[in-house]
Amino acid sequence: MTVPKASPAARTDARGAGAAFDVEAVRRDFPILHQKVHGKPLIYLDNAATTQKPRAVIDATSRFYEHDNSNIHRGLHALSERATAAYEGVRGKLRRLINAELDSEIVFTRGTTEGINLVAQSLGRAIVGAGDEVVISTMEHHSNIVPWQMLCEEKGAVLKVVPINDAGELLLEEYETLLTSRTKIVSFVHLSNSLGTINPIKRMAAAARAHGAIVVVDGAQAISHLPVDVRDLGVDFYAFSAHKMYGPTGTGVLYGRQARLEAMPPYQGGGDMISSVSFKKTTYNKVPQKFEAGTPNIAGVIGLGAAVDYLEALNRPAASAHERALMERAIEVLTAVPGVRMIGTAREKSSVVAFELAGIHPHDVGSILDQDGIAVRAGHHCTQPLMARYQVPATTRVSPAFYNTREEIDAVGRGLHRVIEMFR
Ligand code: PMP
Repeated sequence: MTVPKASPAARTDARGAGAAFDVEAVRRDFPILHQKVHGKPLIYLDNAATTQKPRAVIDATSRFYEHDNSNIHRGLHALSERATAAYEGVRGKLRRLINAELDSEIVFTRGTTEGINLVAQSLGRAIVGAGDEVVISTMEHHSNIVPWQMLCEEKGAVLKVVPINDAGELLLEEYETLLTSRTKIVSFVHLSNSLGTINPIKRMAAAARAHGAIVVVDGAQAISHLPVDVRDLGVDFYAFSAHKMYGPTGTGVLYGRQARLEAMPPYQGGGDMISSVSFKKTTYNKVPQKFEAGTPNIAGVIGLGAAVDYLEALNRPAASAHERALMERAIEVLTAVPGVRMIGTAREKSSVVAFELAGIHPHDVGSILDQDGIAVRAGHHCTQPLMARYQVPATTRVSPAFYNTREEIDAVGRGLHRVIEMFR
């Protein structure tokens, strides 16, 4: 199956990273952006929740259903062979994207949540015992808290939590003192969805490895905003979701080092993950199919492949510089609004600007901005322990992507002034 390339507008500019980023051309690749909400042009600034999909991704999934739809790994007929080749071909694209060593280190999942649960339930249950320790941090998403809590409860293990400072940075010295010979697994978010903090994963992974611990990373946000090199980071597992990197929902990736994946028991039982089955004994398939029980989201994986192609065809350094400028503009515009307190002011930060507005609930802020066609997220962002750390029930979060514009950020500032007028 041929996967469509990005439109010429989005292709790498021959002039390289220094070239200006043509945001209007990129916006033309995203059909959903061109609509009105409540009579106003849509301003979509909820990209940390999910990103919009370029035409190339939408077309790749519908072309699969129109031409190639068939189950994979099973039939000998032409459609099944095409579907299998397209699905399996996406592993190589992801291997290159994150600089994994082998295609077989790419396990397809439903998303970040499933990837972390897979590690906790398969590897975690095999190696964590009573009195052992799992280390996470205050800024984790519930997806990177609850699976470890469940494991620790089952095994009588201890969940340790690395604290943060008021800016939203991990206290690294404290982290290092939490590591002991009982630490079996550490699991950290690379880029926080609630604070925007970028954590120094390479340094943290090295410290964990020195104690013999396995390193798991929640890359849900980082994958679309930062260059990710799993070998350079020195991690064992790296989980992310297609829908946060311009791909379809219901699909994701768990990267795992080959030796680790091979040593792990299966996560779920069923079709495709077996080599042979009898009532006496079942033998399992090789990695990564051992972890992909049942018919996967074939169209979703093919759409994810198209998303990787799209990102690779972009001038990514220019796209990142544009995203950075949007974040800096958002900080500038929002700090100028009376009563705004920023939540998350780390020195190393990307793509998320969250705040509280004195005396006004974030849900009211979000609803009034919605009337202006502005989509932001108001809530706890699935990080309730972090909200407790800042003693807020919720925050309002502006999370730009490369298709947003400076004018859209400025519109949020004007919207907030209207919110204040209505409430005061
Ligand atoms: N971790 C982080 C940092 C996230 O932002 C999210 C999604 N908000 C998740 C995990 C969970 O991702 P998913 O719902 O796609 O599994």
